Amino acid sequence: MSNIETQLVQGANRTEDDRTGAISPSLNFSTAFRHPGLGESTGFDYARVSAPTRALLETQLAQLETGQKAYAVSSGMSAIQLVFQTLLQTGEHFITSDDLYGGTFRYFGQLRDHYQIAYDTWNGAKVVDLVAQITPKTKLIWLETPSNPTMKVIDIQAVVAAVKAVRADILIAVDNTFLTPIYQQPLVDGADIVVHSATKYLGGHNDILAGAVVLKNQQYVSAFDDALITTGQVLAPFDSWLLIRSLKTLHVRMKTHTANAQAVVQVLTDLPGVDRVLYPGVGGMISFYLNAAYSVDAFLRHLTVFSFAESLGGVESLITVPAVQTHHDMTAAQREALGITDQLIRVSVGLENTVDLIADLKQAIAASRGE
Ligand SMILES: *Cc1c(COP(=O)(O)O)cnc(C)c1O
Repeated sequence: MSNIETQLVQGANRTEDDRTGAISPSLNFSTAFRHPGLGESTGFDYARVSAPTRALLETQLAQLETGQKAYAVSSGMSAIQLVFQTLLQTGEHFITSDDLYGGTFRYFGQLRDHYQIAYDTWNGAKVVDLVAQITPKTKLIWLETPSNPTMKVIDIQAVVAAVKAVRADILIAVDNTFLTPIYQQPLVDGADIVVHSATKYLGGHNDILAGAVVLKNQQYVSAFDDALITTGQVLAPFDSWLLIRSLKTLHVRMKTHTANAQAVVQVLTDLPGVDRVLYPGVGGMISFYLNAAYSVDAFLRHLTVFSFAESLGGVESLITVPAVQTHHDMTAAQREALGITDQLIRVSVGLENTVDLIADLKQAIAASRGE
């Protein structure tokens, strides 16, 4: 199955249950598995180690991101934790792009303060500035692109070329939550690890909390296996099944997210009350600066189609105010340096009717003037 649309729809089917011919994969809740005899296994022993429905999902995720191995875990933050838990030790160093998901930023602070794993930040622009920060202790480069919430785009291939030229053993990990493999395939671009908050576009319906890690090579598989078997932040069977089901429409959803977002960007760009629109060109995520003469609170209160809520990537359109929600853990100075002002609005454009979405934003912005 070489084309991604076919892979998404059919990938987890026909892999088991040939006896019944079931089209939809079966959901298996067992945590324990009977052994045929001493020293024998069906391949499943205990659900923290591996479980049938999760295994189907993991095969599917690995193929989608063109990796050798995938792990389906309990949240995006669990996925990020799995990477650092497995690969970095006290005294080592990593470099991260600077405009990060708020939870990732908070976790990196904990790695520094509790585990003495140091990090430096890079603004995502000139690769020479990234390379200049590499030290003999540098183990990993962490990239979030497009960035959250200011939509900065990083050239993954350029980072890979520059970093691997300095030291081939420095790993490059990419948080691919915003674009998904439909629009961005970091492993094809040369990165070593992809991470997702599958709570967002992969899940797509604002009803599954999940994460994924995908590895390009076999080299680190046993280390990741050991780490995950030890701490067990795995995805539960029903959530695994729901995520398999969600993936079947990922390509269709992403195309409509993009079409709706592009239409919204076009209107917002010339709209009174909007100072600037940030959009990476594809995907469903937009940020914009509401003019200071307009009240953010009034804008949120007047929305009727969009919900003021703290997530993204679902069929339902959501709006977030990063300064008070996702990025509250940064200091005011850090937020200001990144452009995360109190007037910055982050929009997750869903799959509702385009005209309805645009009308809702227009009326809410107009009603918030001078309030
Ligand atoms: C939401 C998000 C995360 C964290 O994922 P959870 O599923 O909420 O734990 C990480 N990275 C990005 C880019 C996100 O949007």
